[in-house]
Amino acid sequence: MKVLSGLNLKEIEQITDELGATKFRARQIHNWIYLKSVKEIDEMTDLSLKFREELKKVAVVTDIKIKVKQVSSDGTIKYLLEFPDGECVETVLMRFDNRANLTACVSSQVGCAVNCSFCATGKRGFIRNLTYKEIIEQVLTIQRDTGLKVTNVVFMGQGEPLLNLDNVLKAMEIFNENFQIGARRLTVSTSGIIPQIRKLADLDMQSTLALSLHAPNHDIRLKLMPIEAKYNMEDLHKALKYYVDKTGRRITIEYLLIKDLNDTIDSAKQLAHYLKDIKCNINLIPYNPTEKNDYKRPSNNAIMKFKSLMEQSGKKVTVRLERGADIDAACGQLRGKVDAS
Ligand code: SAH
Ligand code: SF4
Repeated sequence: MKVLSGLNLKEIEQITDELGATKFRARQIHNWIYLKSVKEIDEMTDLSLKFREELKKVAVVTDIKIKVKQVSSDGTIKYLLEFPDGECVETVLMRFDNRANLTACVSSQVGCAVNCSFCATGKRGFIRNLTYKEIIEQVLTIQRDTGLKVTNVVFMGQGEPLLNLDNVLKAMEIFNENFQIGARRLTVSTSGIIPQIRKLADLDMQSTLALSLHAPNHDIRLKLMPIEAKYNMEDLHKALKYYVDKTGRRITIEYLLIKDLNDTIDSAKQLAHYLKDIKCNINLIPYNPTEKNDYKRPSNNAIMKFKSLMEQSGKKVTVRLERGADIDAACGQLRGKVDAS
């Protein structure tokens, strides 16, 4: 059985050719999959009944299953999706009520090898890469389930996208061409894989690069992210500069705020100094407590104080809105719960 989701027009044409149908049929199927997000071949109503029956003998729309779906009071929807091999990943749909944007937060791997001390995904270790089809299937599943069109995609679910770069780049190309999502509405978040950041710079990527920095200096970062031992902040700084010079694009710096660990005045000063000559926006992420460690979320007061200190450095600073706090929508948390039950 062929799975239609994830196929490009040429690949769909191969199927219609084999069935002795015209290329126009392939175009119709392509529209039903990517723009109208149907769940079943039977819903492709501009194909004849007879042709639909023939198509059903060789193809299905998808082979992915929604294992768990949680809807938050703020409209965030979190899915645990299951692939045919039984592996699961999380995908989140976020809507911000003042905008028409619908942002899908997708996973790029099952598990993650980077093993950051604050992250539930890392705890499970690396299981496998997702194929580009499995990445785009996450967005198609959201569209099929909600009947809505996703407008933005962020690679901020499970996994380290830059350690699965070929599949991530291919998925981005398909989001761009088949889903008609502009490059600037795609964001790749990384823990800082330096050679791959340089590669993206050389490719002149026009999508947004988000860097999970999370620390103002080497010692604190090493405590939070073991990757700092391999790719340290000093070399990272050079790679970020190279990226900005090559692409002309502004980077998003993600900074997890953890009480008494990296939220002090001293940390803010060091962070401002580190970012002084890097064209970036700063996104502060209040730590979302998981059961497996002792880190705590700073008070709102401490968060606002840190924000205003960073603003004094002349950068644009935002605090990540908490989405779906009532449904465990932070990285890796739903998956952890299901495993435990
Ligand atoms: N591996 C990539 C992409 C995953 S993004 C990266 O780390 O950038 C996942 C985001 O969720 C990261 O910015 C990570 O720092 C954040 N995150 C992980 N655990 C979290 C927690 N408990 N609370 C808040 N944010 C968390
Ligand atoms: Fe992996 Fe990102 Fe979690 Fe770190 S924060 S373990 S890089 S998914």
